[in-house]
Order: sequence, then C-alpha cells, then structure tokens
Amino acid sequence: MKTNIILMGPPGAGKGTLAKRLISKYHIPHISTGDMFRDAIKAGTELGKTAKDYMTRGDLVPDEVTIGIVRERLAQDDCGHGYLLDGFPRTLKQAEALKELTTSLKREVNLVINIDANQAELIKRISGRRVCKNCGAPYHVTNMPPKKEGICDQCGGPLFQRPDDNEAALKVRLSHYYADTKPLLNYYEAMHVLSNVNGMLGADEVLNLASKLIGEVK
Ligand code: ADP
Ligand code: ZN
Repeated sequence: MKTNIILMGPPGAGKGTLAKRLISKYHIPHISTGDMFRDAIKAGTELGKTAKDYMTRGDLVPDEVTIGIVRERLAQDDCGHGYLLDGFPRTLKQAEALKELTTSLKREVNLVINIDANQAELIKRISGRRVCKNCGAPYHVTNMPPKKEGICDQCGGPLFQRPDDNEAALKVRLSHYYADTKPLLNYYEAMHVLSNVNGMLGADEVLNLASKLIGEVK
C-alpha cells in the first residue's frame, strides 16, 4: 500500500526529527515547505527573497506562493509511490488546494499524523534547538547534544540556531499554529485520516508509534 502522509504539529513537536527517520525507513520523498524555503534563501532565488522576511518574523509565507511550490513538487514522478508532507498544509486554504491537487493527481492523502506536545515543552525544545548547516540534522543543547559541541555527528558540519528560533518569532509561529493550523485537525478528522502521536514521548517511541500507523494504512 502506498502511503501519502501529512505530518502535522506545532513547531518543536518533533516533526522534523520524525520526518527524517520515516523517510530513511520508508524511502518516500520528504516534502518540507520549511526546508524548501530555507534552501531557496540559501540559493538566493526569487522564492527565497519572497519567503525570507515572513520566515524571520515567524509569519506564514503567503498561500499562493506556498501552494505553488507544493503543486510543482507533488506532481513529480517520485511522489507516485507515496510521500511525506511536512509543514504543509498550514491553513485551510492550503488544505483545500491540497485536496484538489491530490485528487486530480490520484495521490490522495491517506494518513495524517498529528504530533503534539505542551507549550512549555515546545518552547524549551525550540530555544535549545541547533541545526547542522550542511546536512540539516537536528540537535538540542541538552536533550540531544552532539558528541562534540557545535559540530554535527553525521557530517562534521557546524551547528547553528535558526534565525526564527528566537523568542519573538517563536511567539508568532505558535500563534499562527493555534489560530491557522490546529483547526485543520477537525478537517482531517472529518475525512477519517487523522491519527495522534504523543510528541512528549522519546524520538524512538514516536517513530515506533508512527510506523505502526503507517503499517495500518489500507
Ligand atoms: P517549524 O515547524 O519549526 O515552525 P518549518 O521549518 O516547517 O518550521 O517552517 C518554517 C517557516 O517557513 C514558517 O514559520 C513559515 O514562515 C514558513 N513556512 C513553512 N511552511 C509553510 C506553509 N505551509 N505555509 C506558509 N508558510 C510556511
Ligand atoms: Zn551535518
């Protein structure tokens, strides 16, 4: 059975960590709008120029821009055998566009994994988060420290703090999550594709629970 998955959850719930583990286990493409925007900023493209200010503030990039990049990506051949959407959709408009798009491609979403954690934990995780500049591997200064401070275990690259992982931007990101994105859980619940995973659990347990859900997709 091919699995067309959406990973949902607030910033800091562990989406990125789970996504990395799922794609290496299931070999499906990882479609992360956040990563796509960060890559575009790094490459200095028009898309990156458009996205940069919104991201730095913690605001959402306008729907038409975000929907456009997902439309292009989802239509590619490699998404015909399953995919993992991460960070999209974040608004009702995006969810409706995705529905239309996946229906016409015959690549309908059949599992939404919602991973959540309480706000105090989210803030703790985001403020201590560090990311590898080369390979994007995530770390945490106390929960998941690298073997050598400031250096990625996997590729030796330098670790840095994302520009939107500061207190002010995080506040904005959380408020967008609660106002714009969390209501989508009702939308997917009504479509009978929603499953919840407790993001307060350890990363291994989260992976096991998510794998079990994937195994149950019919
Ligand atoms: P996190 O889940 O840690 O907040 P992401 O890496 O998914 O972070 O996204 C980072 C930023 O990229 C968001 O705060 C937003 O500015 C932009 N972005 C990512 N996905 C979307 C989306 N679907 N719609 C609008 N903006 C997005
Ligand atoms: Zn690395």
